[in-house]
Amino acid sequence: MIRNIKGTKDILPNETDLWQYVENHIHDFLKKFGYSEIRTPMFEETNLFSRSIGSETDIVSKEMYSWIDQGGNNLTLKPESTASVVRAFNQHNFANLNKINRFYYINSLFRRERPQKGRYRQFEQFGVEAIGSDSPEQDIEIISMAYFFYEHMKLSNLKLKVNSIGSLETRKNYKKSLQDFLMDYEKELTDVSKKRLKVNPLRILDTKIDFEINIIKNAPKIIDYLEDPDKKHFETILNSLEKINIKYEIDHRLVRGLDYYSRTVFEIHSDLLGSQAALCGGGRYDYLIKELSGPSTPAIGFAAGIERLIIAMDKEEHNFSINPDIYIITLGQEAIDYSLNIMKELRLNDNLSVVSDTLKRNLKSQMKEANKLNVSHVIIIGDNEIKNKKLIVKNMETGTQEEISINKISQYFK
Ligand code: AMP
Repeated sequence: MIRNIKGTKDILPNETDLWQYVENHIHDFLKKFGYSEIRTPMFEETNLFSRSIGSETDIVSKEMYSWIDQGGNNLTLKPESTASVVRAFNQHNFANLNKINRFYYINSLFRRERPQKGRYRQFEQFGVEAIGSDSPEQDIEIISMAYFFYEHMKLSNLKLKVNSIGSLETRKNYKKSLQDFLMDYEKELTDVSKKRLKVNPLRILDTKIDFEINIIKNAPKIIDYLEDPDKKHFETILNSLEKINIKYEIDHRLVRGLDYYSRTVFEIHSDLLGSQAALCGGGRYDYLIKELSGPSTPAIGFAAGIERLIIAMDKEEHNFSINPDIYIITLGQEAIDYSLNIMKELRLNDNLSVVSDTLKRNLKSQMKEANKLNVSHVIIIGDNEIKNKKLIVKNMETGTQEEISINKISQYFK
């Protein structure tokens, strides 16, 4: 038997109700903030990602699904969305159209990571990008939008972690100090961190290994390297978060994996998620648009994993299953023929979903199926009903049964 590829998954009918609920909610919620949907292709030139994400990052150095196509083009399945949105922003000259552009997306991403619960090789993300403003108010809009989104989804115990990584200059100076500090511990570091120490020491801050976390506790903090305008920017954000009652924690180890971030970075975690605890992550990327050959334009966004959101919602045990409303029981061929027009009419009502038996089973089996589907009403059609032009409608919650004439049936369910 052919099975699905490791790290991918089938989303089965018993899960898709929740997925659809979440996706609909994302569209509705983000539109409330004035964001418009953008859809970019599933694959792009490999160059786009190596130039934006950074060649030393895990994503570019070892996780991308890349191939050379028959025309000799080097292509990659999208491992993250911001680079594609920025590519589209530049290509379609959005900077000339509006001073501020607010985009959101929902799409699949592909990374060859080590699969585990909450971490897949194909996964779904939604995210937003606000392009055009460098003021802290824009950061607040983005961070609070992410936070309120999860509150709306009734997730409790959210943890907002924020940090500022300043300008490119700040990062360069900090990288040097961190390297100097960690050199004293080089022998104690894991092989992975030893390698990172030379090329990308900031990534060591992400370590999940206890003795490395202990070493890092005494490491220099990037926040102490910020220039004054960046410091002020960060303080304004923290003050505003307090004003809108969003609790935060400054996490000195939070630097995010990708090269293009600057100033504000943040993540929202849920303690329902176990080791893959980040629901979403984002930050400013004031240099990226220029880096990808557009006009120098500040921007900020976040990306959020939908699988992790679903895992967290499942743990909260809210019930999102959607059942059909009506099950039509037909007894005999004439009743089946008769039911076709009744179903057509009932389904014209946008709020009704109607199911019937296509296996020609007996009354008992059809009733059993209706119970299993948890419908609110059953309509029974037999020879008598056809003769009298009346249908039997059974309310499955109360158990009561009544006869309704056929020409009143739509009215009955309005
Ligand atoms: P990133 O694009 O790495 O900043 O990730 C943003 C969010 O996407 C994370 O907080 C996760 O919720 C989700 N995410 C990232 N990588 C994966 C993955 N391999 N599988 C499932 N979700 C992921």
